[in-house]
Amino acid sequence: MVVQPDTIIRSDRKTLSVSIDPLGRLTVRAPKRCSEERIFAFLQEKEAWISKHKRQREGAGARLPSENLDGFTFLLLGKEHTVSLVSGAKIGYDGENLRLFVPRESSRERLVRWLKENAKRILREVTAQTARRMGVAYKSVSISSAKTRWGSCSGDNAVRYSFRLLYAPKEVLEYVVVHELAHTKHKNHSAAFWDEVKRYEPAYKQKRKWLKDNAILMEIF
Ligand SMILES: [Zn+2]
Repeated sequence: MVVQPDTIIRSDRKTLSVSIDPLGRLTVRAPKRCSEERIFAFLQEKEAWISKHKRQREGAGARLPSENLDGFTFLLLGKEHTVSLVSGAKIGYDGENLRLFVPRESSRERLVRWLKENAKRILREVTAQTARRMGVAYKSVSISSAKTRWGSCSGDNAVRYSFRLLYAPKEVLEYVVVHELAHTKHKNHSAAFWDEVKRYEPAYKQKRKWLKDNAILMEIF
């Protein structure tokens, strides 16, 4: 197999490196005067690593929605749900059979709105409960469409979550809530901050790993 990079970025660096983004695009970083031959020889050496990662990423990419949402399956609170397009005006949810009935008209917009409403309801509730458990106070809870972060906590303790956090299992979502609320005490990621997180979420490392491994979910909608 001949490996073709999608992007080559040249800079003052001394060594070659290769990375694959969540959509499976291959980026090579190379020294300014590095020859094409050297880049291709380097990619050839890395072929096994690249094809393994590409396969993994392509598997994950298949989880992204196409134009037509009918039959699309995606995680909702960590459980695989299936979308069926229907005529009608309201979204129907069948929690027992893990199915979502979405109006055919503007299906994507309606589904996103529904996800945001539910994210708001659930995250408000979990944040209030968790804050009581941790003995901390926060200013407000809001929902964003962020694709690069699951949550944040501002200087004045306004907590914000991406509605996409709703894709994660409940216990992972709860970890993000603990993480953001721990920022009401520590405005950094110091050892003291992580001690606080660990106190209320002993298995936090596994949950962080889940979010990292499933970063592709950030690309849904
Ligand atoms: Zn943080």
